[in-house]
Amino acid sequence: MNAQMECTSCGSRLGITEIAYTCRECGGLLDVVYDDAPGDPEELKARFRARRLSDETADRSGVWRFRELLPFADKRHIVTLGEGNTPHWDAPRAAAYAGVDRLAVKHQGMNPTGSFKDNGMTAGVTQARALGATTVACASTGNTSASMAAYAARARMRAAVFIPDGQIALGKLSQALDYGALTLQIEGDFDVALALVRQLTDTDPIYLLNSVNPFRIEGQKTIAAELCEQRGWRVPDRIVVPGGNLGNVSALGKGFMELLDWGFIDRLPRITVVQAEGAAPFAQMVRSGATTLTEVANATTRATAIKIGAPVSWPKAMRVLEVCGGEVLTVTEAEIAEAKAVIGSDGIGCEPASATTVAGLRQLIADGLATPDENVVCVLTGHLLKDPDYTVEYHFGRLEPGAAHANAPVRVASNLDAIRIALKS
Ligand SMILES: *Cc1c(COP(=O)(O)O)cnc(C)c1O
Ligand SMILES: [Zn+2]
Repeated sequence: MNAQMECTSCGSRLGITEIAYTCRECGGLLDVVYDDAPGDPEELKARFRARRLSDETADRSGVWRFRELLPFADKRHIVTLGEGNTPHWDAPRAAAYAGVDRLAVKHQGMNPTGSFKDNGMTAGVTQARALGATTVACASTGNTSASMAAYAARARMRAAVFIPDGQIALGKLSQALDYGALTLQIEGDFDVALALVRQLTDTDPIYLLNSVNPFRIEGQKTIAAELCEQRGWRVPDRIVVPGGNLGNVSALGKGFMELLDWGFIDRLPRITVVQAEGAAPFAQMVRSGATTLTEVANATTRATAIKIGAPVSWPKAMRVLEVCGGEVLTVTEAEIAEAKAVIGSDGIGCEPASATTVAGLRQLIADGLATPDENVVCVLTGHLLKDPDYTVEYHFGRLEPGAAHANAPVRVASNLDAIRIALKS
């Protein structure tokens, strides 16, 4: 397909090999756009599926087996860790908890570095390689840095990650260190770190890999295609996603809109975005009917992946809500913690930010804004083991005193009688 970058605000276009993260005319966000369709949908669906049996590395990736939907011409540039192809599971206990008849979760935490960032990063680093970049950088609440560090290492590029000092989950920090990234702990929060890395990459020859980068969004949009494929190309009534910087909802929405335009699906899902109460600038904007976003200074939540007060992709996310229909909700820290334990009780588990989805769905049902017979998919964005401190604190009763689903370990004497008594309790 013939691809270009286009400003979502003024419509100016840029060539696909230009190094630009925002519009040179007006500063708006850039999208990758296509002037033609990828081809016959039925033929392509068969090809996407057949690639799962191929032994070629690119074919086995859940992003690159959809490569006809992407703007990359040269397969030799592909940097992949076999991302995507993530499970789509039935979650009966979470369904009962939320109040729906049945609930599916798509677990993006089952990616190579444990979050959906891999779906986008494989495309972002591939574009970096195609452009000849030798150093890449990002600001991160943790998962973007873990992912970028891994893909940059595979591509033998230098990686510089900007993380907020003392506010990232240990699982994520350990990944960036092990994958060899230069890890800069910035004195400030995520929003401060992002502003700095954007300034740096505007002037220095370093390629920016935050989700403002439209190629990351392109990789992430394939989650929509894979999800539809897993459901026999039947579109769910509703998708629920957490909202942080709003790249994920923008990418999913773009994915679904293109699939509709190109004849792969016959309708769009409604999209529900869920934010943590203490980090909810997008929810406030939508609720108040404002036309621009007011940043939240010092965003707070223990769900660190969505602890963001100035989400960059809000204009794209707004467009997705307008076209697909949907809403933005907020949930409390207690609701997030409880929903996370319920997801765990299905044998699935996720990181705190992901659990906002089930908490949000429960709220929609309670408020009568969704019906129990809807076909809903909650997108779980990150792996349970990313933030073990949070989980352990919850189950020991330290996070939410009196937590309903806390499952603390039981101390028991080293003899079978004591163990049998414990087993009966
Ligand atoms: C990045 C991330 C989010 C937020 O996604 P955005 O695209 O920033 O809205 C949510 N959950 C997890 C686990 C993440 O890593
Ligand atoms: Zn513009």
